[in-house]
Amino acid sequence: MAGPDPALAFDMIVVGSGGGPHETNLSSYLLKPYGAEWDAGIVALEAGSGQGTLNRLLELEPNLFVGKDGVTRTYSASEVYSFVRCFLITHAHLDHISSLVLSTGALGGERKRVYAVKETLEDLESVFSWRIWPKLASYDENDEDYKLLYSPLVPDGKYHTVFPNISVQAVPINHGTNELGPYASAAFFLRSDSHPSKREFLFFGDVEPDSVASTTTKTINVWRKAAPMIPHTLSTIFIECSWPSGRQDDMLHGHLSPEHLRDELVALATEVYFARRGPSSSQSTSRQPQRKRQKRNPPSHDLRGVLMGVRVYIIHVKDQPAQVHGIPIREVVVGQVKSLIQEAGLGVEILLADQGMHITI
Ligand SMILES: [Zn+2]
Ligand SMILES: [Zn+2]
Repeated sequence: MAGPDPALAFDMIVVGSGGGPHETNLSSYLLKPYGAEWDAGIVALEAGSGQGTLNRLLELEPNLFVGKDGVTRTYSASEVYSFVRCFLITHAHLDHISSLVLSTGALGGERKRVYAVKETLEDLESVFSWRIWPKLASYDENDEDYKLLYSPLVPDGKYHTVFPNISVQAVPINHGTNELGPYASAAFFLRSDSHPSKREFLFFGDVEPDSVASTTTKTINVWRKAAPMIPHTLSTIFIECSWPSGRQDDMLHGHLSPEHLRDELVALATEVYFARRGPSSSQSTSRQPQRKRQKRNPPSHDLRGVLMGVRVYIIHVKDQPAQVHGIPIREVVVGQVKSLIQEAGLGVEILLADQGMHITI
């Protein structure tokens, strides 16, 4: 048997990767350091689907959880969730938190932290309020073991340790505007602090395209942070594409379609292009002076292959009642993204993060 690959930093199991309405496949990912045992501690990234879904997945695929000796571990779903040390939540929409809420009273193991930005924790407080659900969460470090521990993630441009040797930087992003104003989601950079090159990956909550956002553009902030790390330190990105091609902008409801995802990845490629040309170019202008204060985008042929070595996992495709030519909608959407990206020639690999997958990063 081959030994562990030293280039890898994380193992992930996809419990659910859809964007609703099917409650059996909602955003939910289990993460651990590569080479560690699952029972040594798990980070739950989002908590849409949970134990019921994992039960069903384990019936279909009993070899889902494998130990570092390569031998299957026969855990029950509730055992797996008892290994969870913390939940990381991008925003409090139900498709990202429903199993967290439903299972709170029954979670085994030690007390679990819930990491999210302040606004998301406040939304959770309105759920754990004795009305929608019992108050099974608090900010009190010395509270009962069965309660979740709210742990604010400050989006201060820094990484915060959430688990031994795993730290997270949260960056706010737009997720549409409603009667109350702009609604924020978050993107997380998850970094392995024990990995020799501090490998990290990027995970997006739901995303409104910058070109549609009625408020400040925010996804660009994520791309600017990511660009200098691509592809050696950061080569894996999880990002939503809720809708199929052709969806009108006024019907996006704070989500991406393949065309908008392509535009976002072009924005990333542009940042990578400038990052590689050095700091002076990122402010622009040496060659294209004065006329515009903004930096000038490189011609599209300069972006060819810029994202080589990067893989983008599509998540959060919304289920549709009918299949297209017998193909599940998530595969249709991934196919649409692939052909748009191929046309743009960015060199990035497009993949589907499908339910039940084991992904190494
Ligand atoms: Zn969602
Ligand atoms: Zn959402």
